[in-house]
Amino acid sequence: MSSCRVEVVVVGGGAVGAALALALEQAGFAVVLVEAREPAAFDPDRVDPRVYALSPASLALLSRLGVRDALAGLRTSPYHRMQVWQDAPDRGLGFDAGLIGERELGWIVEDAALRQVLWDALRRSRVELRVPARVERFEPGTSDVRLVLDVGAPIRASLAVAADGADSPLRALAGLVVEQAPYGQSGVVTHVRTTRPHESTAWQRFTPAGPLAFLPLADGRSSIVWSVRDLLARELLRLPEADFAARVGAAFQHRLGAVEVSGERLAIPLRLQLARRWVGPRIALAGDAAHAVHPLAGQGLNLGFLDVGALVAILVEARDCGRADLGAPATLRAYERWRQGDAMIAARGFDLIDGLFRSDVPGLPWLRATGLALVDRLGSLKREFAWHAAGFAGRVPPLCARLAMP
Ligand SMILES: Cc1cc2nc3c(=O)[nH]c(=O)nc-3n(C[C@H](O)[C@H](O)[C@H](O)COP(=O)(O)OP(=O)(O)OC[C@H]3O[C@@H](n4cnc5c(N)ncnc54)[C@H](O)[C@@H]3O)c2cc1C
Repeated sequence: MSSCRVEVVVVGGGAVGAALALALEQAGFAVVLVEAREPAAFDPDRVDPRVYALSPASLALLSRLGVRDALAGLRTSPYHRMQVWQDAPDRGLGFDAGLIGERELGWIVEDAALRQVLWDALRRSRVELRVPARVERFEPGTSDVRLVLDVGAPIRASLAVAADGADSPLRALAGLVVEQAPYGQSGVVTHVRTTRPHESTAWQRFTPAGPLAFLPLADGRSSIVWSVRDLLARELLRLPEADFAARVGAAFQHRLGAVEVSGERLAIPLRLQLARRWVGPRIALAGDAAHAVHPLAGQGLNLGFLDVGALVAILVEARDCGRADLGAPATLRAYERWRQGDAMIAARGFDLIDGLFRSDVPGLPWLRATGLALVDRLGSLKREFAWHAAGFAGRVPPLCARLAMP
């Protein structure tokens, strides 16, 4: 069977892989995208239980890819404020978009909406789409890599990127290992109605059982994520709706009034996972294939979009400097150096926060509450915190850099 030859093959068409394929094509590279499943279409009558809080840096990327306006039309919910607390809502950390000179702190978007706008753009682009298809063999050579699929012709490329999620089959085929620590927790996810409006605010309370987030949806409801021990997650899933709603309302200290469940309940197992090497012979990892982090800060996908921006910048620079081989070890190492440390610090930081807020060592609850209130009063520290959450701290890839306000 004759093979097709491109510059980059991206494996995995989730938000990270789809954005990467599109960004590379727009930068002028020849790209194939391999995805195992036909992406589910956005359903106008059903809000997807999987939603993401996207940072301004992620929104900047989507804007530069030309899909942000289309996304805005698919039940997107901008939020302007964030409020985090432990004991009492008025003794916590709160900030709004003005603190970092932005109009919004981010958007809450549905997974299906994000995939739809990215895939619509891919279908209009020159990216060759192989879907549904899976990689069966990964054969790196001196001048290119050959990927054998379960369907269709094999693909030859200078570089393969694994963006096929936390369980990344391509990462395994390439022999790249990860360090993994299951949290023994699951994120219990559903949509709820509250008697008080959500105030376009992303709320999070560190409950004794684990962080409970209320993210504002466009229809006035909230999407919740409660990260709790697996045993409790199973119990919460089994509870009758009214009992579940009462538990959530009490855990949230009724900050938005009474809670009523209005969506399916899912429990997503959580793990901390970091790839030891992000690159290997003719392969690079991106998104959850490289890092799976605790959802308490809502940053997993935002980190993945920063990977996209960094990898595109490195490959464009290599080409512009006449280094034609995109899979050259020095090029791949530059990407790894850029992103691995940042992602590791973020992942370990979220892990530390989770552990700190779960511990009941005497004195710690007081210290935590005081710490939050203190950061709230220290303007520069709070701004730093907000800047990190926005994705604008450290070395920011050009595709993710802050957009000029109109
Ligand atoms: C409860 C919870 C809440 C979260 N909230 C947020 C949030 O608010 N903000 C945020 O930024 N992040 C959040 N995250 C993290 C976010 O979900 C992930 O970081 C993000 O989905 C990773 O995207 P990805 O494209 O790397 O991987 P995935 O979304 O897993 O996509 C991988 C793709 O690869 C495909 N694939 C798999 N195997 C193969 C194969 N063999 N061949 C071809 N294709 C294959 C899959 O079909 C899939 O389409 C949350 C996570 C959890 C668990």
